Amino acid sequence: MHLNPYGEDAVNLAAALANRRPATAGELAERCQDAGLVLESPVTPQDLDRTLAVLDAWEQVVDAADEQARAELVNRMLAASAAHPRLTDHAGSGWHLHYRDDHRPLGSVLSSLISVGTALHLVGRGMHRLRRCAVHGCSTIFADTSRTGRQRYCSHRCANLDAVRRHRARAARS
Ligand SMILES: [Zn+2]
Ligand SMILES: [Zn+2]
Repeated sequence: MHLNPYGEDAVNLAAALANRRPATAGELAERCQDAGLVLESPVTPQDLDRTLAVLDAWEQVVDAADEQARAELVNRMLAASAAHPRLTDHAGSGWHLHYRDDHRPLGSVLSSLISVGTALHLVGRGMHRLRRCAVHGCSTIFADTSRTGRQRYCSHRCANLDAVRRHRARAARS
């Protein structure tokens, strides 16, 4: 996975892992690989623990009350995971930036990837573009990468559900 300037893949991976948390180290490895991450070493239960802790911190970023609080929480995550950036061509697929040291275990890689990716997403697209679905009873998190930045639902399914609900509410009133 190359961290693009908007951090899109990293922030989407964070949302996917937070919405459906991996139960085992094996599942974590598989889902990271599917997302395009190159695994440099075997994934251990410690990696899973670290990742779940990172996701806890990340959900606080999602649920932050305002931009100031959100920035502060992201800064805390960055401080806990940052190393100096470096150029690498480790996968032979082109030079890109890593925001972490080489040969780190997956939990530590995800800590850097998720904090830097989220920071890039928020400053690149807008501080408000990370939230939970607006449908009552659906708490799915999504990164809003829409053109307008006004995405309210996690999926078409939820958008339709809410449209039907609003339609019924209007019909009941009239
Ligand atoms: Zn890389
Ligand atoms: Zn939803």
